[in-house]
Amino acid sequence: MKVHLRMVGCRLNQSEIDTMARQFRALGHEVVASPEEADHFVLNTCAVTNEAAKTSRKFIRDFQRSNTNGAITVTGCYAQIAPVEIRHLPGVQRVIDNSSKSRLVSLVTGETVDEFDAEPIERQSGTGLLGKTRAFVKAQDGCDNACTFCVTTIARGQGRSRSIPDLVRELNYLRRSGYQEAVLTGVHLGSYGHDFGDRQGLKRLVEALLSETTMPRIRLSSLEPWDLRPDFFALWKNRRLCRHLHLPLQSGCDATLKRMRRHTNQAQFRALISSARALIPEVRITTDVIVGFPGETEDEFAESERFIREMEFGGLHIFRYSNRPGTPANRMRHQISNDVKKNRSNKLLALSRQMERQFAERLLGTVQSVLWEQVIGATPRGFINTGYTDNYMRVRAVHPRDLSNIVASTRLDTFTAGEIHGTVKEVLPILDPPDSSVSAIAGSSASYS
Ligand code: SF4
Repeated sequence: MKVHLRMVGCRLNQSEIDTMARQFRALGHEVVASPEEADHFVLNTCAVTNEAAKTSRKFIRDFQRSNTNGAITVTGCYAQIAPVEIRHLPGVQRVIDNSSKSRLVSLVTGETVDEFDAEPIERQSGTGLLGKTRAFVKAQDGCDNACTFCVTTIARGQGRSRSIPDLVRELNYLRRSGYQEAVLTGVHLGSYGHDFGDRQGLKRLVEALLSETTMPRIRLSSLEPWDLRPDFFALWKNRRLCRHLHLPLQSGCDATLKRMRRHTNQAQFRALISSARALIPEVRITTDVIVGFPGETEDEFAESERFIREMEFGGLHIFRYSNRPGTPANRMRHQISNDVKKNRSNKLLALSRQMERQFAERLLGTVQSVLWEQVIGATPRGFINTGYTDNYMRVRAVHPRDLSNIVASTRLDTFTAGEIHGTVKEVLPILDPPDSSVSAIAGSSASYS
């Protein structure tokens, strides 16, 4: 069978779609890039905003238009909260809820999946499974909180964690397949282990992954600030842990945070950031902000903006508040007009660009390790390589070689048009070369998107 896979939304959805790709391939099916070639389309949807739900519907319609004979299976948060609506879209054969998502490949193929049946995959991999350098690994699902704007927690259910041995096994497998970086993901990753009764579960998990795997880089995705104790940041003594923290704030105003039912406030967040910066040199801290939450007055927004500026984030993800049925915020009074949301969003976007530039400029002149991910063109002097520092700044450099999936120490020279331009100084040795069955890393033209 030829399968085309797509996702909308967060890194957790990305990790799930990567796992499905791996499982389809392990069973001998082909994962194809173009919808026209596919017998089957699998879409992992998102419902976090109205826009995400709209995009999910659009992907289904686009696939159906480009391939009228292909069957469609839909899963994910939007499928969870609107299964009937999705079932009526043209071409949709199956809607799979989040609790059955891990069995999706078995349900579609009728075959039994051995999650770590690596051999057939390794034969066709280049830089790593799916030709990527960075793997998204789902460590946790669900959330026990009740932020008043959040539909994800309704769609994903209670928090539950995978076991540490299972995750160690997966990272070792990904390393053998050629990956250089693993990103741990979850709906609420900071609560990892709470369902086992371990309030320090994430710390224990990271310690185990650092000591029992040789993955060169381990990155943590979004972490709710109230889950972290200051001593957590001592883990970053190990330089394999990437120095980027994404700590969703959502608002910098205590009154708004209270209505959002977030378990943090300005004082706690400020203290957390200062602990992180004290223990992790050159850490980049980014955040999420929702603008136009019900009842957000001009004064509340101004306070939020002031606090965000004070925190000197390395960048913001800005969301305009989107009314989601079934959430407490949907029933709140004083909903904010779209024009006001747009205006506030534009203001924070400008601030985000400014803060990102300031963070980048502080790094100029330093030498950082860059994981090169893809070649985007060529000049007479060589290939234009792009990649990321461990603190998640995008860098480009011209080099005679295609450096895809290589970590190289790189001097950061200038910051132009949202990107750092650098000079590759030294290609670092790979700690633990992948299996010989995997083709050579250098010279691959694989890309990450
Ligand atoms: S912490 Fe809040 S925003 Fe995040 S998934 Fe849980 S309920 Fe939703």
